[in-house]
This record gives sequence, structure tokens and C-alpha cells, in this order.
Amino acid sequence: MLAEKAALTKGFEIFERMSEHEQVIFCNDPSTGLRAIIAIHDTTLGPALGGCRMQPYSSVDEALEDVLRLSKGMTYKCAAADVDFGGGKAVIIGDPKKDKSPELFRAFGQFVNSLGGRFYTGTDMGTTMDDFIYAMKETNFVNGLPEVYGGGGDSSIPTAEGVLYGLKATNQWLSGEDDLGQHRYAIQGLGKVGFKVASGLLQAGAHIYVTDINAASLREIEAVAAKTTGKVQVVANEDIYAQEADIFVPCAFGGIINDTTIPQLTVKAIVGSANNQLLEDRHGKLLRDKGILYAPDYIVNAGGLIQVADELYGSNHERVLAKTKHIYDAILEVYKEATGSGKTTEESANAMCEKRIADGKKRNSFYSVPVKPKWSIRTLS
Ligand code: NAD
Repeated sequence: MLAEKAALTKGFEIFERMSEHEQVIFCNDPSTGLRAIIAIHDTTLGPALGGCRMQPYSSVDEALEDVLRLSKGMTYKCAAADVDFGGGKAVIIGDPKKDKSPELFRAFGQFVNSLGGRFYTGTDMGTTMDDFIYAMKETNFVNGLPEVYGGGGDSSIPTAEGVLYGLKATNQWLSGEDDLGQHRYAIQGLGKVGFKVASGLLQAGAHIYVTDINAASLREIEAVAAKTTGKVQVVANEDIYAQEADIFVPCAFGGIINDTTIPQLTVKAIVGSANNQLLEDRHGKLLRDKGILYAPDYIVNAGGLIQVADELYGSNHERVLAKTKHIYDAILEVYKEATGSGKTTEESANAMCEKRIADGKKRNSFYSVPVKPKWSIRTLS
């Protein structure tokens, strides 16, 4: 009996690996070289939404691991932002520098279309809007579009707005007032999001420490500062963690909260746009034990997602900004819950999302596309 069970389990590993997922689709088109995996994690709250990454994965295993992990993350991100989407993601196995072709993205578009609206996708690491122009010849289920295609345009604008709301909420929690100008911030990365956040803080009169590997951005932010009452101080890349700031604002890359950086931090809080800031879950606990408040990244940086999701209703900037404002309340709710329960803020945020999904499950199960039959199977006459 046991041997029988082991034999059964043996060929079924894929189902065990996707045990938390609704559906995984392997897409194969030899004529264009397309090898892709689409993972739909959970559609309780709406159709799955998630970008399409292109990477030269060294194995199918690695690609599958990535798409399963990322699609699950999207479920939480969508639930936290309350956007009526579930979590999904796609990965194309290939080198974005060598393996792209219009035909490959058209083939990918066909696979997305075959899901009939259970999965919406768009650009991510390794893919650009130019690629999706081809995918869009085959499917309407693409979002995160430029304005000329009816989309919301540059998503870093609402993302930066959301970070500023996260910072305000954190100030409110720490000092009882949300004025941005009263505090000092250490900002890592002055890219599309970080530069806008830094400019917003300077306009509010704040003192900011900044770093970037791109010298031109540093000069530009100094020029912005000169026109405001704020103050900017450029610091070396490796010195950003130890600045005597109130809040660390990571806006460059993930994994930045780790065993090396935590001992250097003297800030009271971390609030930034970078994805997956905690290198490992245990780093959330280390922050809590050190008394550093951590605003979960996927709640703080949801502004861009809110804009992408809004395209489903036809893009509207005011509506996006109004919804992005809720990041302020969401962050305060997480701080309150974590303080009351003793959990880390990340654990509290996850639990809040899980509750939202569980409530959704009481209303419906998974998202299914409405079917319009071409003919009746049975006629009454
Ligand atoms: P970006 O590429 O425009 O900016 C990243 C910046 O970090 C660049 O200016 C780069 O020079 C700088 N940088 C790289 N290495 C650095 C280092 N070692 N030290 C200091 N600076 C360094 O990216 P972005 O769109 O501004 O996004 C920033 C982060 O926020 C990323 O982690 C991204 O995944 C996340 N995010 C962005 C959005 C969005 O709407 N753009 C939405 C959600 C999350």
C-alpha cells in the first residue's frame, strides 16, 4: 500500500509543487522557439494579473520555481491593493538580448488569449512594451499599456505617490503627525520611482540623503533641491544604510534588508518601492527585534499595480490617485495589527490579504470566463 502511494506520488511531483496554485500552463511553439510557463495562483478576487518575465533560465525547474513564486506574490499584492484581480505571472525561457522576435510574442499572445481572460499580462524584467505590441495583435488581455494604446502610461508616477503616502503614514505612526518635511530620509536609487519620491520630499522641505550609481541623477536631484526649501546630501553607495536618517527608502533593488545591512541601520523605519526588500523572512523578525518599523514593500509600491488594474475600466488618472491614497490607511492598519499581535509587519500584511481572499471564497470560488455558446446543445422545440 505504502509502495503504491510512493509510486503514485513519484510521477505527481508537479501537482505537489503547484499545490497552492489553480493552474499552470506550459506553452510550446517550436516554430517561433517559444517556451513559456503561465502560472495562475488564485483567482478568487478576479482574473489573474501579472507581468511576463523573459530570462535565460538554466532549467525548466528554475523557470517553474520563479513563476510559481512570483504569481503567488501577485495574489497578495492584488488583495492588498483591493483591485479585483488575482495573482498570476508568466515566464518566457530565453535570452531577451538574442531570442526575441515579433513571432515569438505573437505566439505568446495566442496562448494568453486562449485563456479567454483568466490571465492578464504585460511587461516585466526582460520584456518591453515593443514586445507586447506584437502580443496585442493576438490578444486583448494585455495591460500596463502606454497612453497611446489607451493605457495609464508611466506607472512610476502612482508608485511614487504611493511611497509618499506610505512615508506620511509612517510619520503619523511614529510621531503623531504625517508632515513629510519634518523628517530625514536616506534614499537608495534615484530611478523612475526614487527620483519622484526624492523630489516630493524636497518640495515638502525635507532633508534627504541620496545615493545612486548614476551620477547624472545625483546632479539632477541637486538641481531640484536648489529650487526648494529641502536639503539634499549625496552619499557613497555603501554609506546609505548608516546615515542618521529617520526613514530608509530603498528604491533600487530587492534583497536589500539582510544580515549585512541590518546592523548598519540606525533609522526608525523602512519605507520604499523596491520589490522583495527582505532577503529572507527572518530579516523581518530581525527588524522587529531591533525596533525598526518595516512597511511591507508590496503594499507601499502598489500604486503602479493600481494603475495597471484600472485599465480594465478605461484609464483614469484621478481614479488611480484616489485609490493610491488608500495606501496610507493600509500601512497604518498593518502597523496597528502587527503591534497588537506581536507578528512582524510582513506577517500581518500577509494575514490581512489571506483573510480578504478567504472572505472572497465565501462569495465565489475561482474566476471563470463567461461562456457564450455558439449554438444550443438542446432546443426546447
Ligand atoms: P529604475 O531602474 O528606474 O531605478 C533604479 C535606480 O537604482 C537606478 O537609478 C539605478 O541607477 C539605481 N541603482 C542601481 N544600483 C544601485 C546601487 N547599488 N546603489 C544605488 N543606486 C542604485 O527602477 P524603478 O522603476 O525606479 O524601480 C525601483 C524599484 O521599485 C525596483 O525594485 C522596482 O522593482 C520597484 N518597483 C517599481 C515600480 C514602478 O512602477 N516603476 C512599481 C513597483 C515596484
